[in-house]
Amino acid sequence: MEAARRNLFLIPFADLDDGLLPLRELASDVAAVFGLDGAVAASLPIPAEAFDRRRHQYSAAGLLTAAARSRVAPMGPPTAVLLGITGLDLFAPRLNFVFGMADAGLAVAVISLCRLRPEFHGGDPDPRLFRQRALKEAIHELGHIFGLAHCDRQDCIMHFSTSIQDTDRKGPGFCHPCTGRINL
Ligand SMILES: [Zn+2]
Ligand SMILES: [Zn+2]
Repeated sequence: MEAARRNLFLIPFADLDDGLLPLRELASDVAAVFGLDGAVAASLPIPAEAFDRRRHQYSAAGLLTAAARSRVAPMGPPTAVLLGITGLDLFAPRLNFVFGMADAGLAVAVISLCRLRPEFHGGDPDPRLFRQRALKEAIHELGHIFGLAHCDRQDCIMHFSTSIQDTDRKGPGFCHPCTGRINL
């Protein structure tokens, strides 16, 4: 029997401004990298409990959990990959911020667009650069879902970004060893 084709659902959180990024295009571009079918799901409310008052940031794990809970019948089999997307600034324990987070076991990831905008770093708006960064972060998190760990090579998409410079330096592609380890 042929394995069922897996789907990727991009799930916008309610904060996301429609005009910020063409989500359908992002969904299909990310999905294509892994040979998946990409679609955009209905938006999800921001989980209030994910807000950290002291940090003024949202817990990446909190949003990831909310995305995981949205896995319902219309999304088909549990093999579908879910990718939450928000404009809110995300954090994880012991880190100032994170660009994204993935849970391979749940096949769910979340990315934040907050620090991908050139304006965040004092630059001029640059929609092309912004989209490219979003695509890179999405591919990186899906790489985790498909079994990849962080990679030492600075030009590999699986290199860990601790700054936007890291994100800009790495390519959208996987290095040769990482490519061989992708487990779809
Ligand atoms: Zn990572
Ligand atoms: Zn690599």
